[in-house]
Amino acid sequence: MPMFINAANSKGSIARFSAMEKIKVEEIEAEVFRKRIKNIYVTVDSVTGEAVISAPARASVHRLETFLKSQLGWIRKQRAGISVMPRRKKSNFDCGDKIELLGKEYTLVTRAGKKPYGVYAAFENLEMYAPADAKFEYKRNLMDNFYASKLASIIPQIAEKWQERLGIRTESNQLKLIFKIVGDKISGCGKDIAEKNITLGKPLKFVYKRMKSCWGSCNIWKKTITLNTELAKKNIRIIEYITAHELLHLKEIKHNKSFNGCMKTFFQDWKTIEQELKIIDS
Ligand SMILES: [Zn+2]
Repeated sequence: MPMFINAANSKGSIARFSAMEKIKVEEIEAEVFRKRIKNIYVTVDSVTGEAVISAPARASVHRLETFLKSQLGWIRKQRAGISVMPRRKKSNFDCGDKIELLGKEYTLVTRAGKKPYGVYAAFENLEMYAPADAKFEYKRNLMDNFYASKLASIIPQIAEKWQERLGIRTESNQLKLIFKIVGDKISGCGKDIAEKNITLGKPLKFVYKRMKSCWGSCNIWKKTITLNTELAKKNIRIIEYITAHELLHLKEIKHNKSFNGCMKTFFQDWKTIEQELKIIDS
């Protein structure tokens, strides 16, 4: 999978590897990956929008923040480029608007003043119950909650399927990763990713929330995968793609050759999927 890379010079490095961390400047959060390199550079995943900084082992947090600050414009530009194909105007959640759910189009029917407030699927319609004077943000929240509950109802099954395929197992309240030996069977999937054996000390957690520029993210330390509620608009294949992508980060943090090889092998329709992921409402 192609990736955008931006580099900056930095002073010499010390050979020391440490755990990955996160830094945030303004709205941009980036994961930091320290290794034996001389330069600091940042990559932005061309599909998910995730920003990852690779830095010399002893680069100070202040230096990383200064670097990230200098790259904010560039990162925003890359992320904006990910979503350049608006399909339709963003809905104001008015009665009659077309709303997507799991790759299908529904007509929004608004019903004022009825409790409990929320969104419910009814045949070809999505019915939204909201206060008569509800503003856009309130309605968007109702829709986000609906999307989150939809994702929550399908992700466990999807995650189970892809944990199985990617060789990630959960045992006794722990997520135990047993990596299948798939190096020979899966072309382009390096042995490094196929043969690793890791046991994680925490159960895997999924979080669903509105995100501005990422489809998903994986916090490998907290064992938490966050999915954008907007993903509920896409079809199951695309939801599986993003879920598998984030799950695979539990095995490989970087979008390297092994990572991309593995994804492309499991998703031979990746080009179509990535095209579809560029389409958003605007
Ligand atoms: Zn990723």
